[in-house]
Amino acid sequence: MALFSLIVPFLNERDNVPAFTTFIEKVAGELREKFDLDLEVVLVDDGSTDDSVTRYITSMPGTWRIVELSRNFGKEVAVFAGLEECRGDLVMIMDADMQHPWTVALDMISQLMADENLDAVYAVRDDRLQESMKKAAAVHLFYWLINFRQRFIVPENAGDFRVMRRPVVEAMLKIRDRRRFNKGLYAWAGFRQKAIGYMPDERQHGATKWSNLSLLSLSLEGITSFSALPLRLVSIIGALVGICGIFYGLKIIFEVLFYGVSVPGYPSLMVAVSVLGGFNLALLGLLGEYIWVGIAETKDRPLYLVRRVHRSGEIKTLDKAAQSAEKQTP
Ligand code: UDP
Ligand code: MG
Repeated sequence: MALFSLIVPFLNERDNVPAFTTFIEKVAGELREKFDLDLEVVLVDDGSTDDSVTRYITSMPGTWRIVELSRNFGKEVAVFAGLEECRGDLVMIMDADMQHPWTVALDMISQLMADENLDAVYAVRDDRLQESMKKAAAVHLFYWLINFRQRFIVPENAGDFRVMRRPVVEAMLKIRDRRRFNKGLYAWAGFRQKAIGYMPDERQHGATKWSNLSLLSLSLEGITSFSALPLRLVSIIGALVGICGIFYGLKIIFEVLFYGVSVPGYPSLMVAVSVLGGFNLALLGLLGEYIWVGIAETKDRPLYLVRRVHRSGEIKTLDKAAQSAEKQTP
């Protein structure tokens, strides 16, 4: 029987644990009946400060592992930790807040199982249509920037909710980006992927962990790790402003020499100084962003650290560090 891994990153989801564990029972049954698949659940605790971990340990049915990270590393990295930990032939990623409908997940699994030629199926949110015009425009601009003249296309509104075959998982593990922008990485990896649309359910308990500011920061991460277009745009604008400046200078010299027009100094000077100063600062900031990405990637720190791993069927919790120490001392 093939193995199906379900990876679930979570951060302070204590109130969603009961619904989740009931859900897992259903999932295990249906996977066995419909697809002859065994289920293992890999929960990744992304630095929860509540008692979610204890709650999962006491109520999770079936085969599971909980990888407790040493602190909050962010969902993108938590997903990576789950991918490293899982062993499944098919791997699915879902949220812990019950927003990802099981019917959609089933549909994705069926489509992947039915087509040998498919490597992954991912879900695309359809509810973005309800968002404000301003936000929608910002999202379009972001995807335009990131996809401009690329050899791979990052699909709009796709997230981590997806099911992949083992080779895709191995490919994701080979990509060692430290500042991870998963949506981009899935696209960069290639393979034969198929999208299906879905409407996420309401969050059952708690609130989303993504503020507008953190979304902006993730977008910036996406742009700086996938596109040099902003740098090029600024260079082009800088060059255009410079050329305009030269023509303006020529015009002034011409007027002074041939018409004796006195140069109106202060206002034009202020305009030039503020325009150029502004552009300069903006470019410096942008350069800084790219340099920071470069520095972050060269530091060679591990992507995440594990505090400990809990496993189903073991009374004692396992400590990874203690385990590896045991291995080293004969
Ligand atoms: N999450 C996480 N680390 C974080 C933020 C979120 O592991 O730093 C988890 C969270 O517990 C949930 C999933 O990622 O299981 C999606 O988060 P959320 O529901 O806040 O995002 P949204 O559904 O609003 O996009
Ligand atoms: Mg959610």
